[in-house]
Amino acid sequence: GLADRLQNTMQKIRGKGKVTEADVKDMMREVRLALLEADVNFKVVKSFVKKVSERSVGQEVMKSLTPGQQVIKVVKEELTDLMGGEQSQIAVAKRPPTVIMMVGLQGAGKTTTTGKLANLLRKRYNRKPLLVAADIYRPAAIKQLETLGKQLNMPVFSLGDQVSPVEIAKQAIEKAKEDHHDYVLIDTAGRLHVDENLMGELKDIKELTNPDEIFLVVDAMTGQDAVNVAQSFNEQLGVTGVILTKLDGDTRGGAALSIRAVTEKPIKFAGMGEKLDALEPFHPERMASRILGMGDVLTLIEKAQTNVDEEKAKELEQKMRTMSFTFDDFLEQLGQVRSMGPLDEIIKMLPGANKIKGLSNVQVDEKQISHIEAIIQSMTSEEKQHPEIISSGRKKRIARGSGTSIQEVNRLLKQFEEMKKMMKQMSGMQQKGKKKGMPF
Ligand code: GDP
Ligand code: MG
Repeated sequence: GLADRLQNTMQKIRGKGKVTEADVKDMMREVRLALLEADVNFKVVKSFVKKVSERSVGQEVMKSLTPGQQVIKVVKEELTDLMGGEQSQIAVAKRPPTVIMMVGLQGAGKTTTTGKLANLLRKRYNRKPLLVAADIYRPAAIKQLETLGKQLNMPVFSLGDQVSPVEIAKQAIEKAKEDHHDYVLIDTAGRLHVDENLMGELKDIKELTNPDEIFLVVDAMTGQDAVNVAQSFNEQLGVTGVILTKLDGDTRGGAALSIRAVTEKPIKFAGMGEKLDALEPFHPERMASRILGMGDVLTLIEKAQTNVDEEKAKELEQKMRTMSFTFDDFLEQLGQVRSMGPLDEIIKMLPGANKIKGLSNVQVDEKQISHIEAIIQSMTSEEKQHPEIISSGRKKRIARGSGTSIQEVNRLLKQFEEMKKMMKQMSGMQQKGKKKGMPF
């Protein structure tokens, strides 16, 4: 993923106070390559990289984020922006029925998505759709829609394969009015490639039915081809929205980004599987994470940002240096870490955690942490500041007060001493590293 590509460059700029132009240039080279690799249109990549560069140069580096993470954050925000906000609304005609035309190439998922959309309209909006079988060319296409209709327990309108699609659409709308359907979903034919016959027929249906929505169904797995298809359908027919199918597969997501940027039409829904409930509103942010290939790391970055108070972080760093770190600080830190979520999940989100053997199934004992908190809370403030005064008599009192045992109190005191030692070493390393300009 993009995140992997950025790792090396990120190492270089770690520990700097500002992101320089040269740093950003380095990183943007990786971003450019990664996006092209993800099958994003080159023009889109070019303007995208320009925008991100402008935003990244000269930024102050936030304490809670490394400069690399910060650039990734900008990249993610811009990717999300490029795909627009969530746009899953569906038109409603002033006078029912609302007519929706489903168009796209053969195999893109039109028929399946017609069924899914009908299901969604009924479930989420309490609507009563009529499915229309207007693909008279593909063998068994009518049967396929009728099967879906049966599964959904919804009527399917068809006139066989000897009547023209335009005529079928016309009669279907009459029928919908008679039977009080509020939506008409027309499943049209596709071809292997965009051709004049196909477009001619679709234009005829459009002219006659005056649809409220024309949804272009595209297969996300086809990458750049999907973008070309979207462009010609939009130019020749005009579409109101795009539905990306097969996003449950192993696609890199480049199509999503380019389609939106090239056609300027919103991606409304995402097909996430073959089943009839596998249609979701399209989430630009999730897709951006997918393109970055680092969904969990981003979540972690966001959590770190909202939870770790900048001032407190600075204060803590100072304390680590001067060794005045106390049990009060420890308690506060525990609280901050915990507010980010369950500990074992946080550990799993750490970059590279999946590569460390055994770490992915580590179990952090939440109970043990509650005990630690209880023990610290049972100390007097003097004890918290100067743990060396904790005698065996005091230990007994603390154990009783916290509902733990003397052994546990002893263990915590020992751990705390070791932690302070470790901090001393770490802050020593940090100082040295800074002098030599080493990354830390
Ligand atoms: P059409 O020719 O455009 O009508 O395409 P179909 O609806 O017949 O779909 C072609 C194939 O893609 C079928 O096997 C569907 O089950 C499959 N399909 C459609 N949408 C999705 C999706 O979102 N995910 C997956 N995994 N398969 C899909
Ligand atoms: Mg079909």
